[in-house]
Amino acid sequence: MAEIEREAMEYDVVIVGAGPAGLSAAIRLKQLDADLNVVVLEKGSEVGAHILSGAVLDPCGLDALIPDWKEKGAPLNVPVKDDKFYMLGEAGQVRIPNFPMPPLMHNHGNYIVSMGNVCRWMAEQAEELGVEIFPGMACSEMVYGENSEVKGVVAGVFGLEPDGSYGPNTEPGMELHGKYVFLSEGVRGSLSKEVIAKYDLSAGKEPQKYGVGMKEIWEIDPAKHKEGSVTHTMGWPLGSNAGGGSFIYHLENNQVYVGFVVHLNYKNPHLYPYMEFQRFKHHPMVADLLKGGKRVAYGARAITEGGYQSMPKLVAPGVALLGCSAGMVNVPRIKGNHNAMLSGKAAAEAAYDAIKAERSGDELTVYETEVRNGAIGSDLKKVRNVKPMWSKWGLTASLMLGGLDMWTNTFGFSLFGTLGHGKNDAESTEDASKHQPIDYPKPDGTLSFDRLTNVSFAATNHEESQPCHLRLADPEIPVKVNLPKYDEPAQRYCPAGVYEVVEDESGPRFVINFQNCVHCKTCDIKDPSQNITWTTPQGGDGPNYPNM
Ligand SMILES: Cc1cc2nc3c(=O)[nH]c(=O)nc-3n(C[C@H](O)[C@H](O)[C@H](O)COP(=O)(O)OP(=O)(O)OC[C@H]3O[C@@H](n4cnc5c(N)ncnc54)[C@H](O)[C@@H]3O)c2cc1C
Repeated sequence: MAEIEREAMEYDVVIVGAGPAGLSAAIRLKQLDADLNVVVLEKGSEVGAHILSGAVLDPCGLDALIPDWKEKGAPLNVPVKDDKFYMLGEAGQVRIPNFPMPPLMHNHGNYIVSMGNVCRWMAEQAEELGVEIFPGMACSEMVYGENSEVKGVVAGVFGLEPDGSYGPNTEPGMELHGKYVFLSEGVRGSLSKEVIAKYDLSAGKEPQKYGVGMKEIWEIDPAKHKEGSVTHTMGWPLGSNAGGGSFIYHLENNQVYVGFVVHLNYKNPHLYPYMEFQRFKHHPMVADLLKGGKRVAYGARAITEGGYQSMPKLVAPGVALLGCSAGMVNVPRIKGNHNAMLSGKAAAEAAYDAIKAERSGDELTVYETEVRNGAIGSDLKKVRNVKPMWSKWGLTASLMLGGLDMWTNTFGFSLFGTLGHGKNDAESTEDASKHQPIDYPKPDGTLSFDRLTNVSFAATNHEESQPCHLRLADPEIPVKVNLPKYDEPAQRYCPAGVYEVVEDESGPRFVINFQNCVHCKTCDIKDPSQNITWTTPQGGDGPNYPNM
C-alpha cells in the first residue's frame, strides 16, 4: 500500500484522553506557562461521554490543581455524610463497623460526584487557559521518531472501508507531534498497551490486574433517598466464585449510583459478571431501596487493580503514562481519580521543566520519581497487599489480614513485605470442565434487565460500515479453542453483549456485534487465549454517558 500522507501539527505537549489525568496535565501546563501549546484528544463525542467511575472523589487531587475549585463552581455538590459497609448473605446483611478500618478507608471529606460532569467542568477550565481540546478524535496510532522515541500520534482517521483499507470517503487523519506525548487513556489504553510492550515498561513488575465495573443510575423514591450516603457491600452473590463487591452512592436529584465490580481473576469461565450484578439488585436491602424507582442509565468499564507493584515504568523517550494508563487505583478505597489528577499535575510539571531546558523526546524521569516517592506512591503502597491477599486467601482472611496490613502500613511497615499477584487475569481462567455452570435467574424487567436492553441505556453507537475494532489475532480460536475448552467465556464476560456463539447448519460461529461495545476493554483483558485486541474505533463512536 502506498505511504499515507498526512498533515502534521506541532505542539509542546500532546495529550491522549480527556479524563481526569489528561485534563489535569493540560490545566497544569497552561498554569505554568500560558504560551505552551497543549492539545487534548478525546475519542468520546464530547468530554465526559466515555467517563465511567463510581464516583466518590477524594478532592486531594483537585485541591492541589485548582485550590479555589469551589469558587470556580466545580460540580462537587454532595459531601459524603454517611459511610456504611455490609457483608451480604442471600437473605440478609451484617454491618461491619467503621472503627476497625484504618483512617485511609474513611470517606468523610470526600464527595459523591459525576466524574463525567467533573471532566466537563475541567475541560472548561482548560479551555479558558487556552488548551485546545478536540473531542470526537480517536488516537489510533503512535508516531515514532528516527531514534525510536515517541514523536506524536495519529488522530482523526474516519471512513475506513469495512476491511480496513482506504476508500473514497476515507479521511486519513493528522499527525500531532509533541515535544512530549502524554498517554492518559485510562485503563488498558490501546496506545498505552503498545508503548508498554515496545519499551518493555512492565519488565520486573507484577502483572497488571483488573476488575470489570458495571454501573446503573437510578432515580428512586424521594422518601428513600439519602443524599450523601455511601454503601459498599461484599459477599453475596459472588461468594467464593470471584472477588468483588458493590457500591451504592446517593447523589443529587434523588439519583443513586448502583454499581458492581467483579475481579477478573475468576477461574470459572461459566461466571457471568453482568448477571451477578443483576442478581445483586434482588438482595432485600437493595431491592427495598430500588423498588418504585427507575434505571435511567447503564455503563461498564474495567478498573485497574494491580496497584503499586503492577505499575509499569511510567516513562520512555518522548512519552509518559498517566493515571489509569499506568494503573493508579487504590483498590480497597475503589479510588483512582485523585491519583489520576495528581499524576497529570506531576507529568505537566516535569514536562514544563524539560521544555524550559530546551529538551524534548527524552524520558521525564522526574515524573516517575515524583509518582513513586510522592503522594501517589504513598497512597498505593499502604494498600499494596490487599488485592494479592484477597486473590490468594479469599474474602474473610483478606478482610482481617488486609485490615491489619493497612493499619501497620499507616505506621510505615508491613509484616508481609510486598506480595505478588502471580498470574494475569486471562491465565486465571480454568477449563470449563472443572467447573459447574451457574444458574442465573431471568431478569424481571423491573429491578434486573437483560443485557441488550440495558446496553440501550448506554446510548452506544458505532458507524456500521467501519472495520470491526475488536480484532482477532486468529479468527479460528473462539470456536476451535475457546468454545470446547472454556465454553467461550466472551459470551458472558462482555457486559455489553458484543460476543455471541451462534449455531447454524454449518456449526458454531463466533459473532462480534461491535456496535454494542461500551469501550470497557474487558475482552482485551480476560480472553483466555489473549486473542482479542481492542483497538479504537473512529472518533465520536462508543457510549454517550450522561452523568456517570
Ligand atoms: C466501576 C468503577 C468505579 C470506580 N469508582 C471510583 C470512585 O468511586 N472513586 C474514584 O476516585 N475512582 C473510581 N474509579 C476509578 C477511576 O474511574 C479511574 O481511576 C479514573 O477514571 C482514571 O482516570 P484517567 O484519566 O486515567 O482515565 P479515564 O477516566 O478512563 O479517562 C480516559 C479518557 O481517555 C479517552 N481515551 C482513551 N483512549 C483514547 C484514544 N486512543 N484516543 C482518544 N481518547 C482516548 C477515554 O475516552 C476517556 O475519556 C472507578 C472505576 C470504575 C470502573
